[in-house]
Order: sequence, then structure tokens, then C-alpha cells
Amino acid sequence: MSAAKTVKKKGKSGKGAAARGGGAVARGRSNGAAGKSRGAGKAQAAYKEPGLMKRLAAGPVICAEGYVFELERRGYLQAGAFVPVVLTEHPEVVEQLHMDFVRAGSDVTQALTYYVHREKLRVIGREKDLVPMNRIALKIAKKVARKTHTLFAGDICNTNIYDPADKKALREVERIFAEQVGWAADAGVDYIVAETFSWGAEAIMALEAIKKHSKVPAVVTFSVHREEQTREGWSPAETCKRLEAAGADVVGLNCHRGPDTMLPLLREIRDTVKCEVAALPVPYRTTTEQPSFMSLTDPCCDNARAFPIGLDPFVCTRAEIGEFGRAAYEMGVKYLGVCCGAGPHHIRALAEGLGRHPDASKYSADMSKHAFFGTDKKIKEVQTEYRAKL
Ligand SMILES: [Zn+2]
Repeated sequence: MSAAKTVKKKGKSGKGAAARGGGAVARGRSNGAAGKSRGAGKAQAAYKEPGLMKRLAAGPVICAEGYVFELERRGYLQAGAFVPVVLTEHPEVVEQLHMDFVRAGSDVTQALTYYVHREKLRVIGREKDLVPMNRIALKIAKKVARKTHTLFAGDICNTNIYDPADKKALREVERIFAEQVGWAADAGVDYIVAETFSWGAEAIMALEAIKKHSKVPAVVTFSVHREEQTREGWSPAETCKRLEAAGADVVGLNCHRGPDTMLPLLREIRDTVKCEVAALPVPYRTTTEQPSFMSLTDPCCDNARAFPIGLDPFVCTRAEIGEFGRAAYEMGVKYLGVCCGAGPHHIRALAEGLGRHPDASKYSADMSKHAFFGTDKKIKEVQTEYRAKL
């Protein structure tokens, strides 16, 4: 079969993806695939279209993150180290979670290689599993991405050993990024995410590795803790400007801050850079006093730190996440998602907030048939009359 035929077939079967996304985005996808097929001599080109940048040009792109928190809640990895050992123990659970997020509206299947780097595996004494775990994560994500016509993203992240004053540590950081980018490139990712950095310069190192060891677009997001600056003292907007100048395709913030304390920073970033901007907050009600999820304390429990397993009382409602997505998009922020703490219901709310109707929206709430609050004629008065006493 010729390359053109392969591409054409893919374009047709992409109907499901079109139904999931917004109209403009969906059209961008099919046009992109057809357009590329004429000039592209290799079947592989079919996988790369329509790429991330084309989709962003046409509208919002939703990317579900936060896998380790969700898998911890489900009982497949340990809070603390947060290493996804589930990849070797229960790979089918990871695949199902990817499917759940896609069904809820994610346009991206991001490989679960977050915290599957050399340093993290060293901490839990499983460095020997580094290569197989990365390969498994990439294989699962690729399978889901190709099946669902979502983008296949690689992922690298904070190393936790970055220290600007330690040359040996810097060499190790470089090695960690180089090898993970290499494995992602080998797997044929559509683009690579570099995320959750506290140091701006570490984010730049990650970007340089993506540019050096792959040929795909780079989405670089970093995290802002209590102080509105990186650990070396750069403002979020300044950091984004530096990343854009260094060649990042998309820049922005992920993790640590909830919608309310991330939005004001996004405005400044959007006003500063020309490239696309990303925002993936944690789904928690952070405040001016406690702007990051690690700083939240729970008044019910002697004001103990809620992170990481006592955050439940702070979880954002679906409406709050939907509202965040709308507000960020109106601001011009187009790469949107939710990070640690996100469940598929949050991603669905984000998608619906942007006017989409993903597969999971088939079961979005309809209270008309509720036993007490329902308005449907079939609901008995004996129930609706009792409503005020509930
Ligand atoms: Zn996160």
C-alpha cells in the first residue's frame, strides 16, 4: 500500500477524533493529514499529522496529566516517591487510565515517564528497571494514541538533583534528559513535554535536550511554588521569555498551583511571549495565603499539611475546572490540562467548558430523572414533595 493510501485511510478513520474535538480543531486534523500525504513519501508522516502546532493554531488542545496521583488513589503506586511501578506490575491499568482520559476529552496521550528517570529509580533502588519501564510507558501510550487518533507525547521532568553550583549534578541532569528524550524519539513521539521544574535553568536544559536529541516540538512547563518566581529568582513571565528565546514551541505553567493562583500568572505570561502558552493547574482550591498545593493546611486536622494524601477537602468541583478552562482560553492560553489530582471527570469538565462533547459526555449529569430532584413526569410526587427535607 502506498504512503498516500495509508494516510487517506487514517484520515477517514479519524472521524471519532473529530467528534471528540471542537469543529475547527477537527477540521484542522483531517485537512492536515490529507495535505501532508501528497508531499510525504513515508508512511510515518501519517502519524505526525495533524501535529500539535497545527491543532493549536486551530483551537485549544487538551492534555490530561497527573497520572501518578490518580494511580496512587487507585492503589497502584506509593505516595512519597511517586514512582509509577505500576508500569511493570499492572500495565493494563495504565492503558485503561489513558483510555479514560481520552474518553473524557484529552487530545493527547502522554507517556507515563514522569518520575521514571534514573534519579527517581535510584531512590527506590530499581535503577536496573530504568530502560524497560521507559519503553513500556512509551509503548502503552503509543498504542492508545494511535488507536484513538490522539497526539502521542513523550515526557521528561524535574530531576530533583539540579543544583547550579554542582557541576557533577548538572552532568547527571544532562544525562537524564538525554536518555529519556532519546527513548521517546525512538518510540516516534509527536512531541515532548518537559514539566514541573522549579528551576528555570533546569527547564532550559530540558528544552536543549529535546532540541538536541529529537526533531519534535517542545512543550516546556514549570511550576511556581509559594513565591512567584523560580528558585533562581526569575519571574514566570521572564522564564517563559527565556524558554521561547531558546526555541520552545509552547511555554507555560503546570502543577503545584490551583486555578485561582495560576490564572493571574498566566495573564502576564500571555502578554510577554508570542508563542503558544500552556496551563495545567492542580485541581485544588489554592489561595492567596496558601497559593500552592504543597502549602495547603487543613483546619479540620490541626492545620496539618494536606499534601499529598489529605488534599481531598480542597478538590475543585467540575464547574470550577470548566470555568478555569474558559477563562484561560479567553486569555489566549490554548494548551490546557489538569495536573496532579486530576481525574477523568475534571478533564471532561475542561472539555465541556470549551464547548466540546467528548465520548464521556454521554453520561454527563442529568438530574431530571433523579429520585427526589427530578422533573421528569415519571418521578412520583411522594418523592419530590419530600425534597425540602433532604
Ligand atoms: Zn502535577
